[in-house]
Amino acid sequence: MNQLFIHPRLGKKAAAFLAREHKLLIGGKWLPARSGKVFDTYDPGTGRVIARVAEGDAGDIDLAVNAAREAFENGPWGRITPSDRGKMIWRLADLLEQNADEIAELEALNNGKSLSTARNSDVPLSADLFRYMAGWATKITGETLSISTPGTYHTFTVREPIGVVGQIIPWNGPLAMATWKLAPALATGCTVVLKPAEQTPLTALRLGELIQEVGIPDGVVNIVTGFGHTAGAAIAAHPGIDKVAFTGSSEVGRIIVKAAAGNLKKVSLELGGKSPVIVFPDADMSVAVPGVTQGIFANSGQVCTAGSRLFAHKKVFDRVVEGIAEQASKIRVGHGLNDGTQMGPVISQVQMERVSDYIEQGRAAGATVAAGGGRVGDEGYFLEPTILTDTNPEMSVVREEIFGPVLCAMSFDDDDLDRIAKQANDSIYGLAGSIWTRDLSTAHKMARRIRAGRIGVNVHGSTDAAIPTGGFKESGWGREKGHEGLHLYTEVKSVIVAL
Ligand code: NAP
Ligand code: MG
Repeated sequence: MNQLFIHPRLGKKAAAFLAREHKLLIGGKWLPARSGKVFDTYDPGTGRVIARVAEGDAGDIDLAVNAAREAFENGPWGRITPSDRGKMIWRLADLLEQNADEIAELEALNNGKSLSTARNSDVPLSADLFRYMAGWATKITGETLSISTPGTYHTFTVREPIGVVGQIIPWNGPLAMATWKLAPALATGCTVVLKPAEQTPLTALRLGELIQEVGIPDGVVNIVTGFGHTAGAAIAAHPGIDKVAFTGSSEVGRIIVKAAAGNLKKVSLELGGKSPVIVFPDADMSVAVPGVTQGIFANSGQVCTAGSRLFAHKKVFDRVVEGIAEQASKIRVGHGLNDGTQMGPVISQVQMERVSDYIEQGRAAGATVAAGGGRVGDEGYFLEPTILTDTNPEMSVVREEIFGPVLCAMSFDDDDLDRIAKQANDSIYGLAGSIWTRDLSTAHKMARRIRAGRIGVNVHGSTDAAIPTGGFKESGWGREKGHEGLHLYTEVKSVIVAL
């Protein structure tokens, strides 16, 4: 077994967390995997092993589902008032903030993102989302209905928690993804079995400790670390789970849907994207250029809503691409824990090779590498911010989600909004998009024409807790965050009382 690597920039608390044993949270207890197996977790900035984590599989998922079922049906959770449920969720946000430095360090180390992003964005936004959903715990209501059936009736609907929820999340924002899933499930009174991504289990486990600290009852949140094809597949197929919420690739999304058919559990999916970014000739370049740059290179391009297909009007195409290339050349690529790092590594060797392979495919198909295109250094999994021009919709780099720092730039020479929209909508995905113009009418007309779940105008997007996010087309089913996000975790019951 490799020696565990303790990064010299880690604070005492994060180092102490890493030194602890990392077990599964099931029914309020930290348990080893039933198989006794553990697996390595890495620092993508060095490729070194930073911790070993219990490798849960179907047997552990079974235990966790039983614990979640028991907590849902017989535990104190169902008797806790909405107000007290909300207070616990709110306190969880307080604890996240109190432990922000430690959690941000763990997030930066395990995911690779810069410490400043983790500290100033991931952790506070997660706290915000917990608070936002804490507020909803007391505001889950039904309707009274006027019905026309002869007789006298009192008819109403109630929204009840959907029950035991399985949640499977990716590695690109480990803490944020856990929060998007847990916050609405807790607000609505569900119980949960959460499986973090194999690459990034650490902050979810730390969150599990905080969940215990705020007094959320045992068995309400169970966390099983492990692999997708074992633990993940067991969640998707489990007959004791009422609903599965998944974020990840469309490919695995399809596997989840099939597995969920066994007991017809409810399914929500937040899948891939290939989001268009449309720059009109009248756009304010001082806003558009940095906005588009950020929209693709944030988090090393590992963002489901990343603006990865640029359509710029011919009149401004060169200016836009040169502007982005200039900004990209100034992005400081480095280890997430280093001072001044703006862009970290991609998550793994596999991902680095996958992204590099796409760039090669683009080149082979005739694309020009206008910026970047290569690896940075030979330790860790760093890639240059990359811009491909001379791309067209036949190319794999334009059609498929790369999930790395690669922008495909194309131009349009047209004033017809329908034709521009047709190009932008030429994708199996429909997660997000952005429009850059000073013309209010163009902005609104285009916003209506883009078939995607989130449209930015003169901004690529926002991660605010109140904004629902999710996909049209093959980008998914349902919306997370915002008031909409609660609906994924409730069932509507109609009650008809003959008076
Ligand atoms: P992925 O395989 O879809 O992983 C997402 C989650 O699903 C992980 O927890 C994964 O476990 C789990 N999983 C994998 N196979 C499963 C199965 N058969 N049944 C149940 N759960 C399963 O994504 P990935 O392999 O990490 O990344 C591949 C590509 O997916 C990326 O390059 C990107 O294009 C896309 N992606 C999109 C998003 C997004 O937010 N839209 C996020 C991540 C990845 P493991 O961790 O063990 O694989
Ligand atoms: Mg995978």
